[in-house]
Amino acid sequence: MILPDEHAQITPSTKEETPRCPHCDGELNDLKFKEFSGKGRSVYLLFCPHCRKVLKIFDA
Ligand SMILES: [Zn+2]
Repeated sequence: MILPDEHAQITPSTKEETPRCPHCDGELNDLKFKEFSGKGRSVYLLFCPHCRKVLKIFDA
């Protein structure tokens, strides 16, 4: 993931600035996640609601 440097400002997007999926170019107004759990551990996949490609994987 690309993070801004310490001097960069982070501002909320306007209504016209909807993020897009890098795979299908669909507008990301919502994100979906799926949880996988086992052995006392959970992993979440964050995916695009349009093409269902995985955008990020994280542990909880
Ligand atoms: Zn997509």
